[in-house]
Amino acid sequence: MAENKRDYYEVLGVGKSASEDEIKKAYRSLAKKYHPDMNPDNAEAEMKFKEVNEAYAVLSDSEKRAKYDRFGHNAFDPAAGGAGGGFGGFGGFGGFSGDFDLGDIFSSFFGGGGSTRSRANAPVEGDDIGARISISFEEAAFGCKKEVNFARIETCGDCGGSGAEKESDIEKCPECRGTGRINVTQQTMLGYMQSQRSCPRCAGKGKLIKNPCKNCNGKGRIKINKKLEVNIPSGIDDRQNIILRGQGSAGLNGGPNGDLIIEVRVKEDKIFAREGNNIYCEVPVSFAEATLGAEIDVPMLGGGSEKFKIPEGTQSGTEFTIKNKGIPDINSKRKGDLIISVAVETPKNLSSKQKDLLLAFAESLGEDNNLKKQSFFKKFFK
Ligand SMILES: [Zn+2]
Ligand SMILES: [Zn+2]
Repeated sequence: MAENKRDYYEVLGVGKSASEDEIKKAYRSLAKKYHPDMNPDNAEAEMKFKEVNEAYAVLSDSEKRAKYDRFGHNAFDPAAGGAGGGFGGFGGFGGFSGDFDLGDIFSSFFGGGGSTRSRANAPVEGDDIGARISISFEEAAFGCKKEVNFARIETCGDCGGSGAEKESDIEKCPECRGTGRINVTQQTMLGYMQSQRSCPRCAGKGKLIKNPCKNCNGKGRIKINKKLEVNIPSGIDDRQNIILRGQGSAGLNGGPNGDLIIEVRVKEDKIFAREGNNIYCEVPVSFAEATLGAEIDVPMLGGGSEKFKIPEGTQSGTEFTIKNKGIPDINSKRKGDLIISVAVETPKNLSSKQKDLLLAFAESLGEDNNLKKQSFFKKFFK
């Protein structure tokens, strides 16, 4: 890549022994010649302009110039890995970095003019506002209405956003004659340059207010505490957001309002856990119920219970799915399932009579009654 580059002295049209002054002079006239303002939409001029600036950045710095004289372009080519340490700043216009100090000139060429022009009166979208609502597990499952409190910036109702007490209190800024821009002439290395900047007297608005609105102190906007009732749809899950478009802060100069973004936090439930639209519940059953099979009471979301039959010989931890008793999907409203897990409770605090009965019972058990245990020990002691 370095080989394709033109010699920096050649770029500036000076000899190898040129003095600092000669280099500066050559640069000034070339920079002016190829400057984008003088050559709108001219890609070749733009390239030349970059080239000239790059050459000047090196040759105007005695240290860099010395390196360049010894190593040529390799002094600054990062791929060569050698001497220079390079200067990575030549990406594009306005991106000059390192010790290349032409900031003032460039800002009057580029940034200073274009970027702030008419910004003071340009439409700006209002800020989004975040809020949070906490709801119960059941409110999430069935949906609810909740009040949300938040503060937002609104256009002042008294002055309609003008910031003036009366319409007649607004006058054209005499400094910029209502344009919001003023011309400035600066002496730069390239000679006198004309540029425009935002009018300092009216902050670029082009208007002055003689008598500011008392309600908003002339700002045209005020912070207001709001209360809104929000519909929370059934099926919403923890940390999902509800976005109310246009309920954020007011826009500026006719820009749209921001949004209100409500984060919903769902409290944990004492009985149910949730995963997606399915809910999970652990149901304790007695040793006898698990052994003989039984009709057990299963709690339902929203209160009450339903009967459910567990079969004879149900093991602890067995899961049973009860269809369509979960949470409705937030969009389709199709319900998830209720999944119960059976927890067999081993009886405690037995009387000696109960223990005798249980021992007699245990002794009556044969190979077929504890298949798991039998096969486990067979694997172990074979
Ligand atoms: Zn006002
Ligand atoms: Zn002004």
